[in-house]
Amino acid sequence: MLLFDERHAVTEYAKKMLSTGLVKGTGGNISLANADKNLLAITPSGVPYETMVPEDVVVVDMEGHRVEGHYLPSSEIGFHLALLKQREEIMAVVHTHSDCATAVACLRWELPAVHYLIGSAGLHVPLAPYATFGTQALSDGICQTIGENNAVLLANHGLVAVGVNLDKAFNTAEMVEYVAKLYLMTKSVGSPVLLNQDEMQDVLEKFTTYGVQPAEQD
Ligand code: 13P
Ligand code: ZN
Repeated sequence: MLLFDERHAVTEYAKKMLSTGLVKGTGGNISLANADKNLLAITPSGVPYETMVPEDVVVVDMEGHRVEGHYLPSSEIGFHLALLKQREEIMAVVHTHSDCATAVACLRWELPAVHYLIGSAGLHVPLAPYATFGTQALSDGICQTIGENNAVLLANHGLVAVGVNLDKAFNTAEMVEYVAKLYLMTKSVGSPVLLNQDEMQDVLEKFTTYGVQPAEQD
């Protein structure tokens, strides 16, 4: 089986995406690239996560041609490939419809730094313009909006998070959902106090060593 490890990882995280409530039904999609082989493992389109097995994950080349797998690749394959081409450090893409991030995107708001954990996505999370799912227009809007951030809201649709690996991309999707929840909660009763650029730069600096144990620093 081509991309054995990547297809197992995509399956595992796809199930986690459903069990943690970041998507409902067959919404959302996940991909993980193998740079050496120049191939991408991506969730199949419209296939339930509950019963998904690694063989169901589709392997495509960097032009989106199916190389192995019995299902069609995700309808959002366009932006998965476009993001990989735009930023060479990106290896994984996680697209969710999580409640609070999507609610902020339905308001057509960006997500500001209301809590320091937004730092895994950047200084804020920008908003890509609305376009029909699965279209070139949606892919173009995402690529034009994301900049150096690791997440972007999709107007009236959801969220895209990217990372150097699947764990980081998934964690960013979870953190953005958490911060979006805090933003909506605080907005509903008052005016949240936002962290300023200097405060967020300190956070980003500390994130570079957060969780790294002394033995690993030698
Ligand atoms: P796929 O099932 O084709 O990946 O589509 C789900 C989705 O979220 C579209 O934006
Ligand atoms: Zn979607």
